[in-house]
Amino acid sequence: MSTTTALNTDWQRVIEEIAEEVKPLLATGAVADYIPELRNVDKDNFGMFVSLLDGREYYCGQAQTKFSVQSISKVFTLTKAFSMLKDGLWERVGKEPSGNPFNSLIQLEHENGKPRNPFINAGAIVVADCVVSHTQDSLNDMIDYIRGLAANKAIHIDHAMFRSEKAFGHRNAALAHFMKSYGNIESDVDEVLDFYFGHCSLSMSCEDVSRAFLFLANHGVHPLTNKRYLTASQAKRLNALLLTCGTYDAAGDFAFRVGMPGKSGVGGGIAAIIPGLLSVCVWSPGLDKYGNSLAGVKALELFTTKTGISIF
Ligand code: GLU
Repeated sequence: MSTTTALNTDWQRVIEEIAEEVKPLLATGAVADYIPELRNVDKDNFGMFVSLLDGREYYCGQAQTKFSVQSISKVFTLTKAFSMLKDGLWERVGKEPSGNPFNSLIQLEHENGKPRNPFINAGAIVVADCVVSHTQDSLNDMIDYIRGLAANKAIHIDHAMFRSEKAFGHRNAALAHFMKSYGNIESDVDEVLDFYFGHCSLSMSCEDVSRAFLFLANHGVHPLTNKRYLTASQAKRLNALLLTCGTYDAAGDFAFRVGMPGKSGVGGGIAAIIPGLLSVCVWSPGLDKYGNSLAGVKALELFTTKTGISIF
């Protein structure tokens, strides 16, 4: 579909149709429970927010309700680390899909403490270390950075979620200590983990997340503020990583069904973009067996099917 045709799409009608069509799926997914605090979310929630680069916005359902962004926040820390360390970052973390669960330890030993990509937990912990090692008051600085991206000062950590993640984060602690033993974590492990649990525990709405992803649809420049977050080349690379590694061990299926670079989190959010056109965030807490929002993936599949736009 040409960009002109895409701009004439009746976006509001499309997302309302989608919300109706995915309703039967809301009961079928399973809310993540390995972080106990995540259990306390109602599976009936569904929200969708679309931000066009020309400033138009469309939403439906609980698009303004805050949810736990979890791994979606890894995109923001990666953006910051990539802009600071540039290609030096790739000496510490790879760029290949892992083919393993997001919190796996096994591959890390085979590959000498260098995580496959920045979106599996080990990779995101290395990225967290890069940010912690290069900034003062790292978590507050990161929250301000994300507030700037989302154009919303009212973005905060959910402290109950943070405590829950920290109390049950033994596997993440194991990953971090293991990488420290290989010299791939520079800062104090506990400091890095607090930063990592902190950004994963942020509460944001579909509206916040969709706006915060707009720079990735616009070659690295945020259209709402004209601020450059990444070079055009870096934005291209980050989008490539989203497509190949952004949706756990189902990135192939997501690319096949949806055809957009995207990032999901175990809180049930998924953010995705079409370069040159839009960003979108969908939220529904019931997850499929890979950890992606079940109704969320379906909603994005319907979105590209009904509008006829995708990156392909
Ligand atoms: N904070 C979560 C963890 O470390 C992130 C999980 C996710 O959303 O993928 O397990």
